[in-house]
Amino acid sequence: MKMETMKAITVYGPHDARMENVPKPLATGDMVVAKVCRTGVCATDRSIYTGESSFIRSGEIKYPCRFGHEWAGIVESVGPDVKDFKPGDRVYSDNFVACGECEACKRKDYMSCNSTRSVGTVNTWDGCYAEYMQIPERHVYHLPEELSMDEGALIEPASIAYDAFRGVQLTENDTAVVYGTGAIGMVAVWLAKYYGAGRVILVGRSDDKLKVGLEIGADYVINGKKEDAVARIKELSLGKKGANLIVETSGSASALKDSIACAARYARISVVSFYERNIDDLPIDPLVLGCFSMVGAAGRDGNSPEVCEIMRKNPVKLTPVFTHHVPFENALDVFEHEEKYHNSKIKAIIDFD
Ligand SMILES: [Zn+2]
Ligand SMILES: [Zn+2]
Repeated sequence: MKMETMKAITVYGPHDARMENVPKPLATGDMVVAKVCRTGVCATDRSIYTGESSFIRSGEIKYPCRFGHEWAGIVESVGPDVKDFKPGDRVYSDNFVACGECEACKRKDYMSCNSTRSVGTVNTWDGCYAEYMQIPERHVYHLPEELSMDEGALIEPASIAYDAFRGVQLTENDTAVVYGTGAIGMVAVWLAKYYGAGRVILVGRSDDKLKVGLEIGADYVINGKKEDAVARIKELSLGKKGANLIVETSGSASALKDSIACAARYARISVVSFYERNIDDLPIDPLVLGCFSMVGAAGRDGNSPEVCEIMRKNPVKLTPVFTHHVPFENALDVFEHEEKYHNSKIKAIIDFD
């Protein structure tokens, strides 16, 4: 039997990504094989492409790497052990694959599996800059009919933003601040509003992107290049006390420092971005004195279907974040000519049809 092939992009080294014909994955055992319809372009993909990713330096991501971890598609075939999916189903997936065999996996406690592979990143499970994805049924979900394929490809980054809100209670007296106008920042704005924060403030550096923030629910936007963001946040917050929740998605060291500077007593600071380096001069004493809790948020098992459900029922749609559509044939352009996209890009989507 002749092996079927598909087109996929593999990164061989810094600035060396190639679209090639590779074997098309097979639907064996509990595997679902889906035709990819949309792939979202993530800053992490870019850092793998350029070699700037700290995970490349640490050896946790190795070249050659079949990257890409944000996608939605249509089931093409299923293995004999697959129970809940059939060809034609619209699907999306987790961004990791647990081994499926260890004690933790048998309990369905996939986050405790010691041999997880991340889709398109650390300990790479083949990613979604490819015509087909193969993934075990336990990590696949039905995409509700109310959501478009674009939105399906946004569920992964949305699941990361969702993690920033774990254990947080927001009321109309609360001020939530989001640093960064990428897709995760936009979803964080949208979630802060959904969860009932009285004032939602988005801080960025591009007026065009800040405008999108207003469309999806920010009450105020601050251009940090033009205004003193910390002073303005204090002024806008209840009793000028500062922000109760800060979600830092920008990856900028100064934004991380400002997150501490603008916080109200007992504030929660959720850090969602990667910085790709160590930051030496973080002011820790104010964090202690203010009793802030600073947590990292990177997604976990269960986030995807939960945030998908909010996307399904929230009448406020995230569609303004899809600023670019690029056909799969030209996908490499997004990496090779990033400067063309940079100023206006929030989420670029690769289209396969
Ligand atoms: Zn991503
Ligand atoms: Zn396992």
